[in-house]
Amino acid sequence: MKTAVNLVVLGSINADHILNLDSFPTPGETVTGNQYQVAFGGKGANQAVAAGRSGANIAFIACTGDDDTGERVRKQLESDNINIAPVSVVAGESTGVALIFVNAQGENVIGIHAGANAALTTERVEEQRGLIASAEALLMQLESPVESVLAAAKIAHENHTTVVLNPAPARLLSDELLALVDIITPNETEAEKLTGIRVENDDDAARAAQALHNKGIGTVIITLGSRGVWASVNGEGRRVPGFKVKAIDTIAAGDTFNGALVTALLEGSTLDNAIRFAHAAAAIAVTRKGAQPSVPWRKEIDEFLS
Ligand code: ADP
Repeated sequence: MKTAVNLVVLGSINADHILNLDSFPTPGETVTGNQYQVAFGGKGANQAVAAGRSGANIAFIACTGDDDTGERVRKQLESDNINIAPVSVVAGESTGVALIFVNAQGENVIGIHAGANAALTTERVEEQRGLIASAEALLMQLESPVESVLAAAKIAHENHTTVVLNPAPARLLSDELLALVDIITPNETEAEKLTGIRVENDDDAARAAQALHNKGIGTVIITLGSRGVWASVNGEGRRVPGFKVKAIDTIAAGDTFNGALVTALLEGSTLDNAIRFAHAAAAIAVTRKGAQPSVPWRKEIDEFLS
């Protein structure tokens, strides 16, 4: 029987250390930055926060270290309407970290230490079998061990829990995993990685979507940045444009889109309405700096759309 929690997100938690500088240091060079900020991120946590703030009834399967950062992250996630009972605190590990340099052009280079995220093992997934089986949907990304993503997808598939995969960061995936996915949401780079098709226009997007349908995925939503998405259901595709806003920082745009999309689908929205809702949430996010600080609450999304 499907019960209380209707969405389970499985994924990563990071503390993002963001340093703005005029230009990136070259090997051996030290550069002093002009602004430094620590904000919570990680694709899993960002998508969980987007779902929690947009009104989903959500539980999050993830790992933090037993450090101060982990404690602060868990508190923050709780205040974002997320059930964190399935977040494991891993003894002797540090919470995941992303070191992000942003130059004057707004480009970034990122180094990640997986830390506790690497401890999200198949055994930990198995401990959450009942939770995954009883949820309506499972939303995952690829910053967790891929064998754990596969294990969770299997449990979900066996129990008619909808599997939503945001295949980020870009990597190749097995046919076995793709065949278990109901809804996939790559951006252009990720779609190219998965299909070998370079996505530069709507025709390319349609062909990439078809390649993913051929792997057994019913719904393919390719996000196209400011151009919106290509949405394809069983081979019937169309472009759904996004909202025009003045973007200042696109960090977590895709994460916000995913969390809001699944929330709306679980509320019974049609796919087009769910995409419109997710476009609105992501449009608000790109007008603000940082990952989780930029993710809007339901009230803001509703006001944007009214
Ligand atoms: P990712 O962040 O994963 O690379 P995209 O860049 O494709 O994902 O963006 C995801 C979604 O965020 C888009 O489909 C759109 O809704 C929104 N978005 C991204 N960039 C902009 C922008 N410049 N203006 C308005 N919306 C945007």
